[in-house]
Amino acid sequence: MTFVTSTRQLKKAARIILVGAPGVGKGTQTERLIQRFPQLSSISSGDLLRENVRNKTPLGQKAQSIMRSGSLVPDPLILDLILSELTSRNWLSTTTPPSEVVSALARENGTVSQRVSANPDPASSFILDGFPRTAQQASALDRLVPINLVAHLVTPPAIIIERIAGRWVHEPSGRVYNTTFNAPRIKGKDDVTGEPLMQREDDSEETWRKRLGKFEETSKGLLEHYGGNGILWRVEGKSSDEISPKLFEEVERRFA
Ligand code: AMP
Repeated sequence: MTFVTSTRQLKKAARIILVGAPGVGKGTQTERLIQRFPQLSSISSGDLLRENVRNKTPLGQKAQSIMRSGSLVPDPLILDLILSELTSRNWLSTTTPPSEVVSALARENGTVSQRVSANPDPASSFILDGFPRTAQQASALDRLVPINLVAHLVTPPAIIIERIAGRWVHEPSGRVYNTTFNAPRIKGKDDVTGEPLMQREDDSEETWRKRLGKFEETSKGLLEHYGGNGILWRVEGKSSDEISPKLFEEVERRFA
Protein backbone atom coordinates (compact mmCIF):
# COMPACT_ATOMS: atom_id res chain seq x y z
CA MET A 1 0.00 0.00 0.00
CA THR A 2 1.36 3.42 -0.87
CA PHE A 3 1.20 6.02 1.84
CA VAL A 4 1.25 9.06 -0.44
CA THR A 5 -1.84 9.54 -2.58
CA SER A 6 -1.42 13.11 -3.83
CA THR A 7 1.44 15.49 -4.58
CA ARG A 8 2.16 19.11 -3.67
CA GLN A 9 4.19 21.84 -5.37
CA LEU A 10 6.85 23.81 -3.53
CA LYS A 11 7.16 27.58 -4.03
CA LYS A 12 10.52 27.93 -2.31
CA ALA A 13 13.65 25.78 -2.54
CA ALA A 14 13.63 23.37 0.41
CA ARG A 15 17.02 22.22 1.69
CA ILE A 16 16.29 19.59 4.27
CA ILE A 17 18.22 17.38 6.67
CA LEU A 18 16.61 14.55 8.62
CA VAL A 19 18.29 13.75 11.92
CA GLY A 20 17.21 10.63 13.76
CA ALA A 21 18.43 7.51 15.49
CA PRO A 22 19.09 4.38 13.46
CA GLY A 23 15.83 2.46 13.09
CA VAL A 24 13.65 5.58 13.29
CA GLY A 25 12.75 5.38 9.59
CA LYS A 26 14.69 8.20 7.94
CA GLY A 27 14.78 6.22 4.70
CA THR A 28 11.01 5.72 4.76
CA GLN A 29 10.38 9.44 5.41
CA THR A 30 12.80 10.44 2.64
CA GLU A 31 10.99 8.20 0.13
CA ARG A 32 7.58 9.52 1.18
CA LEU A 33 8.69 13.17 1.05
CA ILE A 34 9.98 12.66 -2.48
CA GLN A 35 6.65 11.11 -3.53
CA ARG A 36 4.65 13.88 -1.89
CA PHE A 37 6.86 16.75 -3.14
CA PRO A 38 8.20 15.67 -6.56
CA GLN A 39 10.57 18.66 -6.74
CA LEU A 40 12.60 17.13 -3.91
CA SER A 41 15.40 14.65 -4.48
CA SER A 42 17.81 13.11 -2.06
CA ILE A 43 21.56 12.74 -1.81
CA SER A 44 23.02 10.08 0.45
CA SER A 45 26.66 10.49 1.43
CA GLY A 46 26.92 6.74 2.12
CA ASP A 47 25.58 5.91 -1.38
CA LEU A 48 27.91 8.41 -3.04
CA LEU A 49 30.87 6.92 -1.19
CA ARG A 50 29.87 3.35 -2.09
CA GLU A 51 29.54 4.39 -5.74
CA ASN A 52 33.07 5.82 -5.66
CA VAL A 53 34.37 2.63 -4.05
CA ARG A 54 32.67 0.53 -6.74
CA ASN A 55 34.08 2.68 -9.54
CA LYS A 56 37.54 2.64 -7.90
CA THR A 57 37.90 6.44 -8.14
CA PRO A 58 40.85 7.99 -6.24
CA LEU A 59 38.37 9.19 -3.61
CA GLY A 60 36.79 5.74 -3.38
CA GLN A 61 40.19 4.13 -2.90
CA LYS A 62 40.97 6.49 -0.04
CA ALA A 63 37.55 5.98 1.58
CA GLN A 64 37.24 2.20 1.28
CA SER A 65 39.34 1.02 4.23
CA ILE A 66 38.00 3.81 6.46
CA MET A 67 34.42 2.80 5.70
CA ARG A 68 35.22 -0.85 6.36
CA SER A 69 36.54 0.01 9.79
CA GLY A 70 33.26 1.80 10.55
CA SER A 71 34.96 5.17 11.13
CA LEU A 72 33.99 8.46 9.56
CA VAL A 73 35.67 9.52 6.33
CA PRO A 74 37.74 12.75 6.82
CA ASP A 75 35.82 16.00 6.32
CA PRO A 76 37.74 17.31 3.26
CA LEU A 77 36.90 14.11 1.36
CA ILE A 78 33.23 14.11 2.21
CA LEU A 79 32.90 17.86 1.56
CA ASP A 80 34.50 17.51 -1.85
CA LEU A 81 32.09 14.69 -2.63
CA ILE A 82 28.95 16.57 -1.56
CA LEU A 83 30.03 19.79 -3.20
CA SER A 84 30.79 18.06 -6.51
CA GLU A 85 27.41 16.35 -6.43
CA LEU A 86 25.46 19.53 -5.60
CA THR A 87 27.30 21.40 -8.34
CA SER A 88 26.82 18.70 -10.97
CA ARG A 89 23.08 18.68 -10.25
CA ASN A 90 23.07 22.47 -10.64
CA TRP A 91 21.71 23.01 -7.14
CA LEU A 92 24.75 25.03 -6.32
CA SER A 93 26.65 27.27 -8.72
CA THR A 94 30.32 27.93 -8.42
CA THR A 95 33.00 29.15 -10.73
CA THR A 96 35.68 27.62 -8.52
CA PRO A 97 36.50 23.88 -8.71
CA PRO A 98 35.13 21.97 -5.66
CA SER A 99 38.60 20.98 -4.43
CA GLU A 100 39.60 24.67 -4.27
CA VAL A 101 36.41 25.57 -2.41
CA VAL A 102 37.13 22.78 0.09
CA SER A 103 40.65 24.09 0.73
CA ALA A 104 39.25 27.60 1.05
CA LEU A 105 36.80 26.27 3.65
CA ALA A 106 39.66 24.82 5.64
CA ARG A 107 41.78 27.97 5.26
CA GLU A 108 39.40 30.80 5.90
CA ASN A 109 37.36 31.51 8.97
CA GLY A 110 35.08 33.75 6.96
CA THR A 111 32.71 32.72 4.21
CA VAL A 112 33.13 31.23 0.78
CA SER A 113 29.82 32.76 -0.23
CA GLN A 114 31.35 34.86 -2.98
CA ARG A 115 32.44 31.61 -4.65
CA VAL A 116 29.29 29.52 -4.32
CA SER A 117 25.57 30.23 -4.37
CA ALA A 118 22.58 27.98 -3.82
CA ASN A 119 20.03 27.79 -6.62
CA PRO A 120 16.76 29.42 -5.37
CA ASP A 121 14.59 27.49 -7.88
CA PRO A 122 12.11 25.19 -6.01
CA ALA A 123 13.14 22.44 -8.44
CA SER A 124 16.53 22.55 -6.69
CA SER A 125 15.05 21.24 -3.45
CA PHE A 126 16.87 18.43 -1.72
CA ILE A 127 17.16 16.18 1.30
CA LEU A 128 20.62 15.27 2.52
CA ASP A 129 20.93 11.80 3.98
CA GLY A 130 23.90 10.92 6.19
CA PHE A 131 25.50 14.34 5.88
CA PRO A 132 26.28 16.40 7.94
CA ARG A 133 27.05 13.90 10.70
CA THR A 134 28.94 16.25 13.03
CA ALA A 135 28.77 19.89 14.12
CA GLN A 136 31.98 20.55 12.18
CA GLN A 137 30.48 19.24 8.95
CA ALA A 138 27.38 21.34 9.66
CA SER A 139 29.50 24.50 10.00
CA ALA A 140 31.23 23.80 6.71
CA LEU A 141 27.88 23.19 5.03
CA ASP A 142 26.49 26.46 6.45
CA ARG A 143 29.17 28.31 4.55
CA LEU A 144 28.23 26.57 1.29
CA VAL A 145 24.46 26.11 1.26
CA PRO A 146 22.04 27.41 3.88
CA ILE A 147 19.99 24.43 5.03
CA ASN A 148 16.47 25.66 5.83
CA LEU A 149 14.87 22.73 7.68
CA VAL A 150 16.45 20.28 10.09
CA ALA A 151 13.77 17.75 11.04
CA HIS A 152 14.63 15.83 14.19
CA LEU A 153 12.68 12.55 14.05
CA VAL A 154 12.09 11.04 17.46
CA THR A 155 10.75 7.62 18.41
CA PRO A 156 11.23 6.40 21.99
CA PRO A 157 14.22 3.98 22.08
CA ALA A 158 12.12 1.23 23.73
CA ILE A 159 9.79 1.26 20.72
CA ILE A 160 12.66 1.16 18.21
CA ILE A 161 14.12 -1.82 20.04
CA GLU A 162 10.75 -3.59 20.18
CA ARG A 163 10.40 -3.10 16.42
CA ILE A 164 13.89 -4.43 15.71
CA ALA A 165 13.34 -7.41 18.02
CA GLY A 166 10.31 -8.34 15.90
CA ARG A 167 12.32 -8.29 12.67
CA TRP A 168 12.86 -11.61 10.85
CA VAL A 169 14.61 -12.04 7.50
CA HIS A 170 14.71 -14.62 4.75
CA GLU A 171 18.43 -14.51 4.16
CA PRO A 172 18.65 -15.88 0.58
CA SER A 173 16.21 -13.26 -0.79
CA GLY A 174 16.62 -10.45 1.77
CA ARG A 175 12.83 -10.35 2.39
CA VAL A 176 12.15 -8.72 5.75
CA TYR A 177 9.15 -9.38 8.00
CA ASN A 178 8.02 -7.92 11.28
CA THR A 179 5.95 -9.88 13.76
CA THR A 180 4.00 -6.78 14.78
CA PHE A 181 3.12 -5.09 11.49
CA ASN A 182 4.23 -7.30 8.61
CA ALA A 183 4.08 -10.88 9.89
CA PRO A 184 4.79 -13.85 7.61
CA ARG A 185 1.69 -15.89 6.76
CA ILE A 186 3.16 -18.88 8.64
CA LYS A 187 5.14 -18.10 11.77
CA GLY A 188 8.90 -18.37 11.17
CA LYS A 189 8.54 -19.21 7.44
CA ASP A 190 9.16 -17.18 4.27
CA ASP A 191 5.89 -16.48 2.38
CA VAL A 192 7.39 -17.26 -1.03
CA THR A 193 9.66 -20.27 -0.46
CA GLY A 194 8.44 -21.58 2.91
CA GLU A 195 12.06 -21.63 4.07
CA PRO A 196 12.93 -20.73 7.68
CA LEU A 197 13.37 -17.08 8.68
CA MET A 198 16.29 -15.88 10.80
CA GLN A 199 17.05 -12.95 13.06
CA ARG A 200 20.18 -10.98 12.14
CA GLU A 201 22.95 -11.14 14.66
CA ASP A 202 23.40 -7.36 14.50
CA ASP A 203 19.68 -6.98 15.31
CA SER A 204 20.26 -8.14 18.89
CA GLU A 205 18.92 -5.89 21.62
CA GLU A 206 22.39 -5.37 23.04
CA THR A 207 23.81 -4.18 19.69
CA TRP A 208 20.89 -1.82 19.23
CA ARG A 209 21.21 -0.33 22.68
CA LYS A 210 24.84 0.46 21.86
CA ARG A 211 23.96 1.89 18.46
CA LEU A 212 21.24 4.12 19.91
CA GLY A 213 23.56 5.29 22.68
CA LYS A 214 26.21 6.21 20.13
CA PHE A 215 23.68 8.17 18.12
CA GLU A 216 22.64 10.16 21.21
CA GLU A 217 26.27 11.04 21.76
CA THR A 218 27.16 12.09 18.22
CA SER A 219 23.90 13.84 17.38
CA LYS A 220 24.06 16.12 20.42
CA GLY A 221 26.58 18.50 18.86
CA LEU A 222 24.72 18.47 15.56
CA LEU A 223 21.38 19.35 17.17
CA GLU A 224 22.99 22.04 19.30
CA HIS A 225 24.54 23.48 16.16
CA TYR A 226 21.14 23.87 14.49
CA GLY A 227 19.20 24.77 17.62
CA GLY A 228 18.21 28.34 18.23
CA ASN A 229 17.96 29.65 14.69
CA GLY A 230 14.46 28.51 13.83
CA ILE A 231 15.38 25.78 11.36
CA LEU A 232 15.46 22.93 13.88
CA TRP A 233 12.04 21.27 14.18
CA ARG A 234 11.28 18.22 16.33
CA VAL A 235 8.65 15.61 15.56
CA GLU A 236 7.82 12.61 17.68
CA GLY A 237 5.88 9.48 16.80
CA LYS A 238 5.71 5.78 17.57
CA SER A 239 5.77 4.81 13.91
CA SER A 240 6.62 6.20 10.48
CA ASP A 241 2.89 6.48 9.74
CA GLU A 242 2.48 8.74 12.74
CA ILE A 243 5.44 10.93 11.77
CA SER A 244 4.79 11.37 8.01
CA PRO A 245 1.63 13.54 8.15
CA LYS A 246 3.26 15.95 10.62
CA LEU A 247 6.39 16.14 8.48
CA PHE A 248 4.36 16.79 5.31
CA GLU A 249 2.43 19.56 7.07
CA GLU A 250 5.61 21.26 8.23
CA VAL A 251 7.27 21.11 4.80
CA GLU A 252 4.11 22.56 3.27
CA ARG A 253 3.89 25.30 5.87
CA ARG A 254 7.46 26.37 5.20
CA PHE A 255 7.90 25.86 1.47
CA ALA A 256 4.60 25.36 -0.40
P1 AMP B 1 25.90 5.30 5.73
O1 AMP B 1 25.42 4.57 4.52
O2 AMP B 1 25.32 6.67 5.86
O3 AMP B 1 25.76 4.49 6.99
O4 AMP B 1 27.48 5.51 5.54
C1 AMP B 1 28.38 4.44 5.38
C2 AMP B 1 29.80 4.88 5.75
O5 AMP B 1 30.21 5.96 4.91
C3 AMP B 1 29.94 5.42 7.17
O6 AMP B 1 30.17 4.39 8.09
C4 AMP B 1 31.16 6.33 7.03
O7 AMP B 1 32.37 5.60 7.00
C5 AMP B 1 30.96 6.93 5.66
N1 AMP B 1 30.18 8.20 5.72
C6 AMP B 1 28.92 8.42 5.26
N2 AMP B 1 28.54 9.69 5.50
C7 AMP B 1 29.58 10.28 6.13
C8 AMP B 1 29.80 11.59 6.66
N3 AMP B 1 28.86 12.55 6.60
N4 AMP B 1 31.00 11.84 7.24
C9 AMP B 1 31.96 10.92 7.31
N5 AMP B 1 31.82 9.65 6.85
C10 AMP B 1 30.64 9.33 6.26
